[in-house]
Amino acid sequence: SGGLVAFPTETVYGLGANARDGHAVARIFQAKGRPQDNPLIVHIANLADLQAVVADITDDAWALARAFWPGPLTIILPVREGIAREVTAGGDTVAVRMPSHPVAMALIRAAGLPIAAPSANISGRPSPTRADHVWADLAGRIEMIVDGGPAGIGVESTVLDLTSSPPLVLRPGGVSVEELRRIVPDARVLPRYGTGAAEGDEREGPARSPGLRHEHYSPRAQLWLFTGEWEAQVQAIASRARAEAEAGRRVGLLVSVQTIRTADKAGIPNTVIIAEAGSRSCLGSVASRLFDTMRHLDSQDVQIILAESYDTAGVGLAVMNRLVRSAGGRLVDAGEPG
Ligand code: AMP
Ligand code: MG
Repeated sequence: SGGLVAFPTETVYGLGANARDGHAVARIFQAKGRPQDNPLIVHIANLADLQAVVADITDDAWALARAFWPGPLTIILPVREGIAREVTAGGDTVAVRMPSHPVAMALIRAAGLPIAAPSANISGRPSPTRADHVWADLAGRIEMIVDGGPAGIGVESTVLDLTSSPPLVLRPGGVSVEELRRIVPDARVLPRYGTGAAEGDEREGPARSPGLRHEHYSPRAQLWLFTGEWEAQVQAIASRARAEAEAGRRVGLLVSVQTIRTADKAGIPNTVIIAEAGSRSCLGSVASRLFDTMRHLDSQDVQIILAESYDTAGVGLAVMNRLVRSAGGRLVDAGEPG
């Protein structure tokens, strides 16, 4: 009936509307404060529904769907008539995915509709991985939140554009580039997904994926991202934390268990708020806690967040992509241990 329902997926919580109802979809943009030119992902629950959303299913699309659906992969294909133009931001391509979360599946099936859903956060804020994150951002603006407990993966889906040749990863996410390349070996990734995100690398990005320009995943506090060798990062984070605390600022650390143990020995003032981001030896644990730790530090009213870097293999690429964007250029090269 044109309402907005937030629901859990295996990546993050989504804010859903009937993808065939332009008014309903327009309300998503209003509720989130989302820029009109940033298109949405259409969620389906059966492979047969893909035909109702896209105009042409390529061989790559079939192979990827078989390999990764249901799961955290979004593919972009030419859009079919009947999908509201608000979904595609007026463009002729559509992003589509089949989520694996049982509640998301059940909701889409019960609705009997393709569901357009971006992440259920105020635009620019860290994505919601729990129902109370959605509540904090959107209570009073949407009809319903379905609470399915914490989202498992914690970062959004991988977005792969199949309308460009070779296929282009527009956003790293829950399916790693290594996994993707087993099915589409020539898939390309924009160079900016390392830690040194240079503006120049974006030339091709914004036109193809408006989200690259708009998404910031930002906590309210200023996030500083430390790079370089890990031991050097730990030393630099500890000494910066001491300096900021001495200057009277409220500091938060978004750091791994390994860094917490090591930095503790280096001496962290007890006024510093420490949020454990997971383990460096299991980057899936960092992915699943990343947005929650950002929101937790915000709730502690810290002014500055100091964060460490991770390896970009596997889901680490998605983690680093979100951290680099959150830092918005505030990168500190800690170099080698001194
Ligand atoms: P969200 O659901 O909030 O995680 O955002 C969806 C992401 O998919 C954004 O980065 C969008 O820019 C991207 N996206 C959705 N549809 C398209 C499309 N037709 N072409 C390119 N990117 C898209
Ligand atoms: Mg989003």
